[in-house]
Parts: sequence; structure tokens; C-alpha cells
Amino acid sequence: MTRVLVVEDDRQLVRALRINLQARRFEVDEASDGGSALRLAAARKPDVIVLDLGLPDMDGVDVIKAVRGWSRTPILVLSARHTSEDKIRALDAGADDYVTKPFSMDELLARLRAATRRREAPPESPAAAEFTLITTAEFSVDLVARKVRRGERTVRLTPTEWHLLEILLTHPGRLITQSRLLLEVWGPTYSEHTNYLRVYMAQLRRKLEADPSRPRYLITEPGMGYRFEP
Ligand code: CA
Repeated sequence: MTRVLVVEDDRQLVRALRINLQARRFEVDEASDGGSALRLAAARKPDVIVLDLGLPDMDGVDVIKAVRGWSRTPILVLSARHTSEDKIRALDAGADDYVTKPFSMDELLARLRAATRRREAPPESPAAAEFTLITTAEFSVDLVARKVRRGERTVRLTPTEWHLLEILLTHPGRLITQSRLLLEVWGPTYSEHTNYLRVYMAQLRRKLEADPSRPRYLITEPGMGYRFEP
């Protein structure tokens, strides 16, 4: 049984979440503020955490940072905030995904399932044997040999394209923020250069996607970042 910790101070929403999650055989723990969320996260070791960003005692982003100090439990953020900066702060602090309020229960459950599936996937390290070869209907990538193929053809990537692709492929399904990609690939002084990302992602799509203008695998989340959809 999957154990989920719901951190939310809106009692009606907590009730709706509990009923829906229990009906799908999740075991549910509840916290209505950041302090009790951290205590329960440590005591109950949930498989996944659903976290509201607007809590009475703490900023939800600080809850994420605290949990990430000792745990890799997937965190799905609920955000009523409409600016993408808050979501980006949450993702950069270590959240795995977000759902914007108001959300449909089906959407939340789909994101929860995806988050727990990723947790059960092999570790996010290219060294793990099962994780060295990533194959889609369109292309295959050998992360150790650093080879990309489309059918019989070898695809040549520049070191920068490779670096970007590697980060996305080793986090399947996960939204990686623009700032994280810029930091990891270009370094700390390039955090504003989102145009670099657009250029390089367009190049990768031309090399890897059947229809680069309507990508199937390398997905843009406008204003937020990019996602490899396996
Ligand atoms: Ca709230």
C-alpha cells in the first residue's frame, strides 16, 4: 500500500483528498502545517508527499528544503499561486512536480502515480546497469557509450546538446526548470539566458523528434522548463 502524507491547511480539501486517496487504497496521513508535516515525514516515512505551498506557519518551499535534507521522497506541490516563480522555487528546492489549484482529482492522481512510479524506477544514475540504454520509438540513447541512434543512423550531438539531453533523460517524466538546466550546463552566470535553452532544445528536437515543431519526447513547459516524456 502506498503511504501518502497530505500537507494542507484547507480542511475541506484535505477531506476530499483523504476520501479519494483512501478509495484508491492509499494510506493517508495528514498535517495542517509545516511543523507537523516535518515531524510526520520523519516518523511515518511516506512514499509520497502532497504539499500545499501556502501553510500557516512556514513557506512550503522551506518544508521542501527541510525534507530534502534527508529524504528523496517524491513531493508533489499543490499551488494556488498563479505566478510561475513560486512553482519554480518549489521545483528548484527539490519538489518533483506540481498541480495548480483548482485541480481535478484525476489529474492529481495521475501525477501521484507518476511520482511514485519514478520512485520505484532505478536510481537516477547513469551508472546503474538498467539505466544505461534509453529507447523510444524514435531514438535510442546509450548513456555510458554516449551514443545516440535513430534507426540505423548515428546522431551526432555537440557536448552542450549531450549535456542537456543527459539531464532530461536521467529524470524521465520530471519537469526540470530552466534555471537548473542553465546552472548545470552553462554555469551560475548564465541563469537569465533562457534563449540558450530555446536554441539548444530546438536543435535537439531537429535531431531526435519525428516532428520537431510538435515534439513527442522533449516537451516544453512554457515559462517553467523542460520534460523528457518517455
Ligand atoms: Ca493553504
